[in-house]
Amino acid sequence: MTLADIVERSSRIVFFGGAGVSTESGIPDFRSADGLYRQKYDVPPEVMLSASYFYAHPAQFFRFYREKMLPLAAKPNAAHIRLAQWERAGKLSAVVTQNIDGLHQAAGSRRVYELHGSIHRNHCLSCKKFYPASFIAESRGIPRCSCGGIVKPDVVLYEEPLDGETVEGAVRAIAAADTLIVAGTSLTVYPAASFVDYFRGENLVLINRDPTPLDGKCTLVLHEKVGEALGALPSYLSGETA
Ligand code: NAD
Repeated sequence: MTLADIVERSSRIVFFGGAGVSTESGIPDFRSADGLYRQKYDVPPEVMLSASYFYAHPAQFFRFYREKMLPLAAKPNAAHIRLAQWERAGKLSAVVTQNIDGLHQAAGSRRVYELHGSIHRNHCLSCKKFYPASFIAESRGIPRCSCGGIVKPDVVLYEEPLDGETVEGAVRAIAAADTLIVAGTSLTVYPAASFVDYFRGENLVLINRDPTPLDGKCTLVLHEKVGEALGALPSYLSGETA
């Protein structure tokens, strides 16, 4: 069966994605050859993005975060757009993403479980006041609330737990799906990668440029670009051009 056949026959698709879903929007992933982890830093990115580093070295954390984690000019690509159309057409029940860039919502997706949080939500650690991403982007040094507290992005840093309600919603959606499309993820970040194991449906599809530990367990494996693969399929919306 082709991906087109599988999508045609499905009515409860769940899409489980990672950083590779946004590379076609110009946002580098972490583990590809041109990913962030292959660039040279004095302190490795996985350390800079840990909770202990954030609290010990907030100024250095925010310098790295502003430079590398705030792609505010990026636009949704063909993958984000197609998934939002499938949701509107009643084919897709949810997107579960490890991404923090908000591009699924920017494309129009409504049910999005953001396992690792979002750059678009930021709160004061003292008084909990909300700040948009632009506040962090435009601040200098350590972003401070009007009360003096540090404004921290609601992104899940290494060493931090995932949000319980988000995990519950994501797992429930995956367990109820007839098709699970896993795409643009190396499946190496836990516990997120383990959520794929809750799938009980018919078709497990993987779309990833490089091989992953899931390749041998899938109904269909496409080593292709996810935007190109999804962009080639119908929107299933009458009256809307693809
Ligand atoms: P990863 O960097 O470990 O792996 C990305 C995978 O996507 C690679 O296997 C690569 O082959 C594949 N890929 C890259 N471009 C692709 C494309 N166009 N089509 C198909 N496959 C493509 O990413 P991960 O597994 O998501 O883990 C990284 C962690 O970093 C996640 O937790 C995520 O939160 C975070 N992150 C997020 C963003 C973002 O929000 N856009 C960007 C970088 C990292």
